Order: sequence, then structure tokens, then C-alpha cells
Amino acid sequence: MADKAKVGTMWLGGCSGCHLSIADFHESLLDVLELAQFEFSPVLCDTKYDEVPELDVLIVEGGIRNEENRELAEMLREKAGLVIAYGTCAAYGGIPGLGNLHTVEELTTEGYINSCSTVNPEGIIPNEDVPTLESRVRPLGEAIQVDLLIPGCPPKSDVVAEAILTLLNGGTIELPTTNLCEV
Ligand code: SF4
Repeated sequence: MADKAKVGTMWLGGCSGCHLSIADFHESLLDVLELAQFEFSPVLCDTKYDEVPELDVLIVEGGIRNEENRELAEMLREKAGLVIAYGTCAAYGGIPGLGNLHTVEELTTEGYINSCSTVNPEGIIPNEDVPTLESRVRPLGEAIQVDLLIPGCPPKSDVVAEAILTLLNGGTIELPTTNLCEV
């Protein structure tokens, strides 16, 4: 049997919802696992970032919102033969991109002080152990080379499963031109 493709997934500036579409592969997951070995994923194991192995395919959810997102994207790009910008946030910025309508100062003030769900009587904005926000949200392709976009919020599980299987079988992926979103 041919070696299985080494696959990893990562989430950056997103909500993790795109990973649920992978969890919803159902029986298609068995077909994927015939061809692929998941070596790294924040939902499957606790691999340390500096222990990520070389990967054939990296599936990335979320765009670049902060410095940590960018550093992880750059580090993982070095590890991966092919990178998929997975979901609308990774492909185009998505819902976090709405933050681009405001300055970083406005966003942090709203989040840490003014929000109705915030209790912060001293008005302290944390600046230690919190990744620094970049000036705006960027799609993954503005930070690293991306080989394939699979948009959708989240992408439909059956579309993703078919795309991944086509890729692993060496075929050419043709995404539907209609709605790619799960709901
Ligand atoms: Fe969440 Fe939608 Fe962004 Fe995926 S594309 S991370 S589901 S907001």
C-alpha cells in the first residue's frame, strides 16, 4: 500500500467552526483515512507547535488577526507541501474582517472596557501574554503562499470531503460555483 499523505490542520483567526465541517465528514472520513494520516490538528492531539512534522497537506482555518496568527502561518508554511486556505475567514477575511471597519484601539476599548458583557472597573487593557493585534485582518494568502481556496462559512462537509479525496487521489478539484456554506 502506498504511503499515506501526511495531513495537518490549524486554526488561526477564526471561530473553529470550519473544523466542525471536518468532524462532520461522517463515513467519508473513513475514505479520507484510507489515504491520509492526520499528523497534527488542534482538535486531535496536543502536538507542540515546535514539534509539527513535515506535512504533505496543511488545512488552515482563519485569517491573520494578530502576530501569533502570522508567526504560526509562516512556521507551518515551511512544513507543508500544499496549503489550503479553508473557509471564508482564511480565504477572504470573513466575519473577523468586519473588525477592519474600526481601528485596533476602538476594538480593544470595546472588547476590554465598553462591552456590556465586560466587567473591568479599573479599565485595564491587558498587554502581557496577549498576542498583539495587527492593524487589520488579512486573508491567509496575504501572509503566506496559498495553493488552494475552499471558502464557505463553514464550508459544506460533503464538498470538503470530496475536495480532499480528489486531492489525495491526485485529481483536479472543481468546487461548486453555487453556495459553499453549510447553512
Ligand atoms: Fe468560523 Fe465561518 Fe470563519 Fe469558518 S469561515 S472560522 S465557520 S466564521
